[in-house]
Amino acid sequence: MPAYHHHKLLGGEDGRRLANRDRGEKIAGARVEVAPYKKDPADFVLWKPSQDGQPGWDSPWGRGRPGWHLECSAMSKEYLGETFDIHCGGQDLIFPHHENEIAQSTCAHGGKEFVRLWMHNGHLMVEGEKMSKSLGNYYTVHDLLDEFPGEAIRLALLKTHYRQPLDFTKDGLLEAKRELDGFYAAFRKVKDVQVPSLKTVPEVQMPLEDDLNTPQALARLHKSLGALNKEDYKADIHKGYLLAGGELLGLLQQDPEHWFKWRPGGTETLDEKSIEALISERGEARAAKDFKRADEIRDGLEGQGILLEDGPEGSTWKRA
Ligand SMILES: [Zn+2]
Repeated sequence: MPAYHHHKLLGGEDGRRLANRDRGEKIAGARVEVAPYKKDPADFVLWKPSQDGQPGWDSPWGRGRPGWHLECSAMSKEYLGETFDIHCGGQDLIFPHHENEIAQSTCAHGGKEFVRLWMHNGHLMVEGEKMSKSLGNYYTVHDLLDEFPGEAIRLALLKTHYRQPLDFTKDGLLEAKRELDGFYAAFRKVKDVQVPSLKTVPEVQMPLEDDLNTPQALARLHKSLGALNKEDYKADIHKGYLLAGGELLGLLQQDPEHWFKWRPGGTETLDEKSIEALISERGEARAAKDFKRADEIRDGLEGQGILLEDGPEGSTWKRA
């Protein structure tokens, strides 16, 4: 039985359960003096009175502006309707923001269910510190793509369950890239395989259906990789399994040759054509038993971070 009943319980009709706090706790926790216009200490502001000079609009309750919780209720009604399926957000927004969204939207829409499923993600840290605009310690995907392949960024994010805190680091990205190197290196050894239907990879699919348990789905892929590296006689079956399972996560769908030729943006390094030309020159030198020239070319390429691997079907290469 998938564990998302946990989240269904949190959302839905009884929104007060979202934060799992009771009234007494909330009121005892409120240290500030209760504003005189509140009927109940737990009331929150829907419409904020505006002083002269502050932005504001006329309304039946006087000149003012929407309280900040209203923003989300108004936007979601406009674009998603009175009831919608999935509402995400950081765990720090559960109380009071999301509770208040539920309260005001449910009341405005005659008691209709507001959100069917709430998904709250853990805190995101960057290199061990809380990410913030003022510290400037944030990365944009655009910048990261100069240093790492997009697939490594995706894997680094999927390795942590979304409800757990995530420390996003460049070391973590490097590790994710190495893991993918391992998958693609194994793929390289097995040519054309039949990719089974997604229905035949339940061990990858079921954890994803169970509150998006990406670490468990990835663990299953690693298990298959281990088997692929061990069991030559069933390598094509394992590779097919990995391709089908990887597709569910948006991973492992590249041509391995393409993966290994990726290079960081802005770096001065040999382009593919020159590399291929040198490799074929080396092949000719070897055929002519000119091993000195062949080794020269190999060493030269290695000096530029290009590693050659000789196999029965010729040489392949990758960037170190
Ligand atoms: Zn919101």
